[in-house]
Amino acid sequence: MIELKDLSLVYPNGHQGLKDVNVKIEDGEFVVIVGLSGAGKSTFIRSINRLVTPTEGELHVDGDNILNYKGRGLRKLRTKIGMIFQSYNLVKRNNVIKNVLAGRLGHTGTVRSVFNLFSKDDKALAYESLKRVNIDDKLYNRADELSGGQQQRVSIARVLTQKPKYILADEPVASLDPPTSHQVMKYLRKINKEDGITTIVNLHFIDMAMEYADRIIGMRAGEVVFDGPVSEVTEET
Ligand code: ADP
Ligand code: ADP
Repeated sequence: MIELKDLSLVYPNGHQGLKDVNVKIEDGEFVVIVGLSGAGKSTFIRSINRLVTPTEGELHVDGDNILNYKGRGLRKLRTKIGMIFQSYNLVKRNNVIKNVLAGRLGHTGTVRSVFNLFSKDDKALAYESLKRVNIDDKLYNRADELSGGQQQRVSIARVLTQKPKYILADEPVASLDPPTSHQVMKYLRKINKEDGITTIVNLHFIDMAMEYADRIIGMRAGEVVFDGPVSEVTEET
């Protein structure tokens, strides 16, 4: 479970990333955060794996206040959170399978990870993950040879290989055309249903959010201005 309590984040330049946010997300939920550019969606997501650190309030992941985590605690937190970004964040010159195996790095012992040594099980899991997003025919292609939609599917496979408890996706379809966007959203939804992975997705189109979310969180200027099931979203919201 993820719980934000009176959570605020003010950036050093004075911009308000989050303002008094109170949100509780139960295990297994599929939540979409919507809002215009600058609303705080990205800050919300990045706070949960501590890419940024809120300045006030509390943030609990599985009961632990993660705000003062560092070192080992932080690594452990990040191992259970799979991140998906708008720009895919693959290593461009590495092939697909190597990119996907990177999902195991947090689980591997330090020495093994330094030398990029992966077990048979890791490799089998990576291959299985690629199959689930239908891109197992591109194992030895370099990441930068793939289309945007293919790269995002590889990044989903990387997250699956990580076996996370949570998936956080920061504008995962913002660089993709509409058909490809729907394809990516369908995979995220399917994985949430099949594996029970709690998923939070940032989107800037409400239509897309309505189609895939169970629950929608609307943000404006760092504040949560709506939080409820899709059925409660009206014209005014
Ligand atoms: P998004 O709206 O998808 O978050 P942005 O273009 O706002 O994308 O931000 C891109 C990157 O720049 C992010 O890493 C964000 O944290 C950072 N950023 C956004 N606004 C500022 C700012 N005013 N000063 C410094 N960095 C910023
Ligand atoms: P969104 O993801 O909804 O576009 P962000 O969380 O990126 O919103 O931004 C929320 C606010 O925080 C904006 O005013 C933005 O300019 C500011 N901001 C985001 N990242 C940074 C940063 N790294 N440094 C300074 N200001 C930032």
